[in-house]
Amino acid sequence: MLVSLLLLLWAGQAPAAPVADEFPIGSTCFASGTLETNYRDIAQDRSRWHCQPGDASIVDQRSFIRFDMNGRKAIESPVLTTRLTLFSAMRITAIGTLGENRSLAYSRDEVSFATNDWLMRARLPRLSQPVAAYVVEFDLPRHVGVLTGATIAPAPKALDVGRSELIIAWLCGLLCVPLVLNFAFFRVLRQRFVLWHAAAVLFMLIQTLVSSGLINRFFSLSMMELCVLSAGSWGLAIATASLFISDLIEPGKLDRIQVQSLRWLGPWVLAWSYVYLFASDPIRPLSAQAYLASYVPAILVFAWVFTTAASRGSRAILFQIVAWAPMMLTGALRIVSALGLFEVPIELMLEQHISIGFEVVVTSIGVADRFMAIKRQRDHALAHTKILEGLAARDPLTGLFNRRGIEERFDELTEEGFATMALLDLDHFKVINDTMGHATGDAVLQAVAVALGADEDTLAVRIGGEEFLLLLRGKDGPERAERRRKSIPARIAAEIPGLDRLVTASMGMVTCTSPVRFSELYSRCDHLLYEAKAAGRNRTERVTMTPKPARESGATVVSLR
Ligand code: GH3
Ligand code: MG
Ligand code: MG
Repeated sequence: MLVSLLLLLWAGQAPAAPVADEFPIGSTCFASGTLETNYRDIAQDRSRWHCQPGDASIVDQRSFIRFDMNGRKAIESPVLTTRLTLFSAMRITAIGTLGENRSLAYSRDEVSFATNDWLMRARLPRLSQPVAAYVVEFDLPRHVGVLTGATIAPAPKALDVGRSELIIAWLCGLLCVPLVLNFAFFRVLRQRFVLWHAAAVLFMLIQTLVSSGLINRFFSLSMMELCVLSAGSWGLAIATASLFISDLIEPGKLDRIQVQSLRWLGPWVLAWSYVYLFASDPIRPLSAQAYLASYVPAILVFAWVFTTAASRGSRAILFQIVAWAPMMLTGALRIVSALGLFEVPIELMLEQHISIGFEVVVTSIGVADRFMAIKRQRDHALAHTKILEGLAARDPLTGLFNRRGIEERFDELTEEGFATMALLDLDHFKVINDTMGHATGDAVLQAVAVALGADEDTLAVRIGGEEFLLLLRGKDGPERAERRRKSIPARIAAEIPGLDRLVTASMGMVTCTSPVRFSELYSRCDHLLYEAKAAGRNRTERVTMTPKPARESGATVVSLR
């Protein structure tokens, strides 16, 4: 001890000391070189060493950190602790005060991981004499945090459970509740957004478990596995959360381009995760910044979607704005720090975990709120259907509703979301009557009623003769109507064997985004049906009526075959 103290004093004062000892006492200095550069090559050249944290760089293939242990308080069983970051190889050399040197080489799977943070640790070589310096070399590191976050610190006691570990465990438990609740919701109301939310919660749970290090309590994963799980779960959480938002928002509150942007966010972020994990030189040194910068568009798209939907009076988006605000803020801070504007330390991770928990809780309340709204609407519609049935507003031949029953309640049906009307007429039906008889004609009409497949989102009506009407609810209403029209020939052929021809149908269809009177909508459909007949039959003419007609008609015409 006395000897080392004397040596220490001597090292600090003697002007003729070896050049390597000229490092400031207790300093942490950085240098870099190619994969061929050895510590010995550059130890003597002080001009290659820089001793400010801002001097750390991963631009070169090999990065060196030299911890000068002179003047530092003695640490009992010290280890190297630093930010968990991919690298290809690491070597630690201990340099003794009396000249003894020992090196240990590590592959990236030989380091151990913290259970309460995104940190990794490595044993230090032991010497029989006091250590003057430790030199750590990283080959091909992917994040400068591996240098700036490096310290020589005491090894944690294996059974120590820190306070943050308990908070994370509690948060993970919290995240399990909406996961289970979502499946219960889905059983009652088969809405896709509930499943997207469950998936987003699952990925956020994985992200929290992995990036907090808690997962290392339960599984022994490699560094690559941890990094893939962390970047992958973030990407998938953003992907599923974006799909969730686009499905959750009430119809008509977002434009097509916003919905499309939300759909592309996931693939975009995942592609950059891949670059971060696997890109080789010359992209490697920039891959971490590029990866974080890829979240900028995600934040911007979210902000754009939130403001648009809110300005259009969406109730569901209000919950999303509150839910995402803390996470968008921490995300923005991390991006700013990664781009080098200022260093947001690893401590921000705890805020990230808490903001994930906050997002999930608030979003779950939002899901429950939307769930209740949709359920109310649906219950109302079901009660309504029952009333219609009770009024015997049915056609005796086909069992479908008749026109009077639907027309009288059309306004209420519109309010319940039945926004698509399709009018169908069989093609050359008279020929069936003329050649096969009226009874066969009747059987054909009954087969059509089966093909129209009425359900709680699809009301089927026989207007009269061989003319039918569908009222549909939901975004995919037009597609469902078209599928039903196309299924008519096969259904008729199956029900009435011996028909010598296929019986097709023509259709006129209108989707409107604001309430319209029955007679207006009907005559519009009738007109389109006439056009479909004139254009050769067995086809659909379709328009979408916009709320504020941009031009005279306010409608876009689409023709389907
Ligand atoms: P298009 O392709 O132009 O629609 O030709 P179409 O032959 O289908 O139309 P048209 O209006 O000329 O003929 C409709 C026929 O439907 C005339 C009528 O006899 C028949 N029809 C109307 N109601 C019933 C019914 O309840 N049962 C039967 N079997 N036929 C009916
Ligand atoms: Mg006809
Ligand atoms: Mg007709």
